[in-house]
Amino acid sequence: MKYFDAHTHVNFVAYDEDREATILRSHGAETGMNVVGTQYDTSKSAVDLAEKYDHVYATIGLHPIHTSKSYHDEKELGDGGKEFTSRGEVFDTKAYEELGQSKKVIAVGECGLDYYRLDEQTKGVQEEAFIQQIELANTLNKPLMLHIRPGRTGNAYDDALKILKAHAKVRGDVHFFAGDWNIAKEFLDEGFTLSFTGVITFTRDYDEVVRNAPLDMLLSETDAPYVTPAPYRGKRNEPAYVEMVVRQISEIRNESFEKVQRQLLDNAVRVFGIAI
Ligand SMILES: [Zn+2]
Repeated sequence: MKYFDAHTHVNFVAYDEDREATILRSHGAETGMNVVGTQYDTSKSAVDLAEKYDHVYATIGLHPIHTSKSYHDEKELGDGGKEFTSRGEVFDTKAYEELGQSKKVIAVGECGLDYYRLDEQTKGVQEEAFIQQIELANTLNKPLMLHIRPGRTGNAYDDALKILKAHAKVRGDVHFFAGDWNIAKEFLDEGFTLSFTGVITFTRDYDEVVRNAPLDMLLSETDAPYVTPAPYRGKRNEPAYVEMVVRQISEIRNESFEKVQRQLLDNAVRVFGIAI
């Protein structure tokens, strides 16, 4: 294995037609992957995939937008999920703890705070589900896969840090990091890695953070099916494309591709406790 896609969603409906082929292509591209759940059903399917393929691992949890009536994404749940997104899910610790018994489960999430689409009233619900998942991660002694998205109101990163400092006994990764260097430093100081997607191949917004962070605190991810990296823009994203993210990190940092490739793989092995 040469690459690890630390956050991907081949469990989503977007891959119903060619899921196995996509997973095998990533194997051909020497790319392991962490398939991330966003609610109970997608967490369960992530575990099923991880049990089936050696180079696939799973993360189980409830995405903050799914803690209450939420935006419906066709790529995630297809037509069938409309009933679910109109009511949301209450985090059932026991059910997730059972899923977490699989040796292929490497993290809890994606969990955290999303202030982008939600209103003030749902903040409390998000916070409650977040704390429950931190506690589950503490119990299972597994790292957190954090989804923190800023919005028009409040400061999602500050609020998340406060909650983590009060509750988390484990560390983890800040997925799709979208803050500035000051925010990055706070998470790095707390021992959290930052992961970047194909977004860094088509915007310069995160170059400062990618350049300044210690190389052993970065992870590569695709967040597929979303944010396809250049030169594949316009196509559906997939784990095999994580190589382009690794390449871009090496270019932004002006470090050799081999060095960055090896270190990012080592980081994934360390953070998720995997053997590849
Ligand atoms: Zn995700």
